[in-house]
Amino acid sequence: MLQTNSLVIGRFAPSPSGPLHFGSLVAALGSYLSAKSQGGQWLVRMEDIDPPREQAGAADTILRQLTAFGLHWDGTVLYQSRRSDRYDEVLEQLRQRGLLYGCDCSRRELQDNQGRCSKHCRQRGLPLADGVAWRLQAGREPLPFEDAIWGACRFPDTELDDVVLKRRDGLYAYQLAVVVDDVDQGITEVVRGADLLDATPRQLYLWQLLGGTPPRWAHLPLIVQADGRKLSKQNYAPAITGADALGLLKQALAVLGQPVPPGDDIPALLAEACAHWRIDRVPRGPVMLA
Ligand code: GLU
Repeated sequence: MLQTNSLVIGRFAPSPSGPLHFGSLVAALGSYLSAKSQGGQWLVRMEDIDPPREQAGAADTILRQLTAFGLHWDGTVLYQSRRSDRYDEVLEQLRQRGLLYGCDCSRRELQDNQGRCSKHCRQRGLPLADGVAWRLQAGREPLPFEDAIWGACRFPDTELDDVVLKRRDGLYAYQLAVVVDDVDQGITEVVRGADLLDATPRQLYLWQLLGGTPPRWAHLPLIVQADGRKLSKQNYAPAITGADALGLLKQALAVLGQPVPPGDDIPALLAEACAHWRIDRVPRGPVMLA
């Protein structure tokens, strides 16, 4: 976990809520090619901090799928489920800086208020304890950032939100774990699906609070089904199988706007794709699955 300035370090950070589907293959391939085409490292991090949403065995399945697709990661896989001490440490630092507050809004109350705290919990001084969500006081405005695919991104102030870092049920929130790990792993570029574009200002804010040098961001096109819904585990997207790895890799390359090399050897295909990778060819999407 050493931060270097020259080496590009990218990552793929799946949640083991099910096996990889075509949309996650696009994210895995895009992040891999971006890092590797710059002579960088590509890390895999298992975001297994939400047991109620996880599927037994999915983490191992994902790693087997990546291997079958020739996407070999550098170093060892980091499992977020083993990082509780570090998350507690960061929460404690933020608490001591007076940046956290407790929020006891119910799911219903949040739903009725577009997911935001509606009871002015910021002012209520609830103790940070079990049974309340721990929220981070947002900065004054959503931070603008530059995205390699989307260009200059600036979200309206209405998007400003006090993000939950520890959930009411006691679980660490994705927004906390993702930034702590990206900072600790020295990640220099975050290449992932465009569904996380609007999470980026909040994550950038946390990057700043933790004193990290923010990464380069690139948000890849989402894959949608014919009915316009995002291809996702929640929508029962079919798992991809290694049996058709070559065909799916070629399809993923086409979705990413890259030339599709001929041939039927996976390592050769990836090497070729790496040599010709250009992020400025990646469309914003969404891309409809044929
Ligand atoms: N774990 C997240 C997911 O599977 C991705 C996190 C990220 O790439 O920042 O959707």
